[in-house]
Amino acid sequence: MKISAVADTLFTKIITGDIPADIIYRDEYCICIRDISPQAPTHVLIIPVKPIARLVDATLEDQLLLGHLMIKASEIASMLGVDDAFRLIVNNGANAGQTVFHLHLHLLAGKAFSEAMV
Ligand code: AMP
Repeated sequence: MKISAVADTLFTKIITGDIPADIIYRDEYCICIRDISPQAPTHVLIIPVKPIARLVDATLEDQLLLGHLMIKASEIASMLGVDDAFRLIVNNGANAGQTVFHLHLHLLAGKAFSEAMV
């Protein structure tokens, strides 16, 4: 997929190789990188190649892509040996803690998540 210059986010630059990152998986639709500031022993980001800014900016047209991200999150959790217990988080909007406006799933594992957040 061609990435438009107007949607030049930090993550598009990682996808194109302009900024280095620890990429642990990639396919035609997404990449998975290790978070630069991990909040758990395992903390990776699953990022669509398509630069959707926030989850609320996704449309029905993106439903297969969003499903793909979830399936890949599960496979990557297995690949990393954390499929027994992990959390997936999407921050939507600055007030929810989103700092990079290119949709991504946080996959966190390797510590006890004692608090149920929902
Ligand atoms: P969010 O706050 O939900 O938008 O998440 C953005 C995440 O990107 C944060 O957890 C950051 O630590 C992470 N991050 C920022 N820059 C990089 C980078 N160059 N490589 C890997 N992860 C990054």
